[in-house]
Amino acid sequence: MRHLYVNGTWTPSASAEGIDVVNPATEEVIDRVPAGSPDDVEVAVAAAREAFGAWSATPAAERGKLLATAAELVTERAERIARIIATDLGAPYGIALKVHTVMPAGVLASFARLAETYDFDGERVGNSRVLKEPAGVVGAITPWNYPLHQVVCKVAPALAAGCPVVLKPSEVAPLAAYALAEIFDEVGLPPGVFNMVAGLGPVVGEAIVAHPEIDMVSFTGSTRAGRRVAALAAETVKRVALELGGKSACVILPDADLGTAVKAAVAGAYINSGQTCSALTRMIVHRDQYDEVVGLAVEAAGRYTVGDPFAEGTRLGPLASAAQRERVVHYINRGQEEGARLVAGGTERPLDVGYYVSPTVFAGVAPGMTIEQEEIFGPVVSIIPYVREDEAVEIANGTPYGLSGAVWAGSEERAVAVARRLRTGQVAINGGRFNPMAPFGGYKHSGVGRELGTYGLEEYLEIKALHL
Ligand code: NAD
Repeated sequence: MRHLYVNGTWTPSASAEGIDVVNPATEEVIDRVPAGSPDDVEVAVAAAREAFGAWSATPAAERGKLLATAAELVTERAERIARIIATDLGAPYGIALKVHTVMPAGVLASFARLAETYDFDGERVGNSRVLKEPAGVVGAITPWNYPLHQVVCKVAPALAAGCPVVLKPSEVAPLAAYALAEIFDEVGLPPGVFNMVAGLGPVVGEAIVAHPEIDMVSFTGSTRAGRRVAALAAETVKRVALELGGKSACVILPDADLGTAVKAAVAGAYINSGQTCSALTRMIVHRDQYDEVVGLAVEAAGRYTVGDPFAEGTRLGPLASAAQRERVVHYINRGQEEGARLVAGGTERPLDVGYYVSPTVFAGVAPGMTIEQEEIFGPVVSIIPYVREDEAVEIANGTPYGLSGAVWAGSEERAVAVARRLRTGQVAINGGRFNPMAPFGGYKHSGVGRELGTYGLEEYLEIKALHL
């Protein structure tokens, strides 16, 4: 059984219970982490509180140097960490390396730089000086789908801002967080500045959220759990940042380059086996081009080779857990029951062992159907027709979510005009690339607050005015 990382040391949990970590490609148990207890949280929060004074008073540039060293170590160990993520999450190795490891190393480095360059106390408003101060002790709760990235998106800005952290990584894929904790241990963060308590959401997560000595909670996960976190945090009037679910739309206007747009839209839906909060799960296309698009989408889906994450040529690994596979299968059945047309994939197992789902495409999807409204979190894309541009915008905005999106058009100007009408936190214009320095977060039920870059750092800062 692994330990917890508390007050600068690897410590056994007060609870004897453990949680098996399963390789979703082989269905074998590969490790075991503690199912931590509220007592563990108590000790971790006390350590973080104790560390707050000195860490918040440490010059930001020094905090940045420690983060920079941590980023270098993640980069140095990228292959090892990628193997961990390919094994406990099931991401194809190439993606585990590039997207799940090298990208978060870059994000960590970006917060190291921001710690050194951000102006924490230079702003003037009339006769007042505005100070940006650390928000306090931060509780960070993360999901399994980007198991290193989600952790870095919270821990790096919190530490850069001067806030000690108590992290609860996901119980489903916790091993990358362990690799990061080892690195923080090695770089010599002062004891109590970074703490990690593994365990279950309703136990360890809720103990963190309810704890009166935690000043802020940053949560990434489902909207269901996010609601619970916000309600619990309200009792102690905590600052709360929520990165929740999505049901993002890819709107393809008639003058777009159809071949490129559909290929990119399918890629945007299937990334990380569709287990991506910002996945483009709804393709909204003009009625006149509908049949052509369905054909192109089926063709594109057919190129997603399902298989062992370590096999050459695998583009789609397994889903992260048996429960996740069941959830996706449930939605595929639901789509058919409600009259959508399955044109690729389905519920059949593509491989005998492992939590795999074939790349799936639904045509004939109407606004309001369950598969059009709810987050599936698997390799399933729904194609929805529109006639007027206003209707396309209405469909795109017609779910409770607003995390991401994409617009394809014959010109950037035309695509931007439609993107402005979407109630969502980010929109890729004609294939615009993800930018890890740009603000990331949701409108509506997709969350509160922003991660990454300067906006991500500012989440962890309180604001004080000195009237001079
Ligand atoms: P989840 O909500 O089940 O769990 C997320 C984390 O919260 C886990 O660590 C879990 O243990 C913990 N948790 C669960 N219940 C809790 C509770 N009552 N109190 C406190 N903590 C609790 O989500 P998941 O299945 O791990 O991840 C998938 C979800 O995450 C999807 O809905 C996805 O869209 C969302 N997500 C959002 C973003 C984003 O940036 N918006 C990014 C990645 C994933």
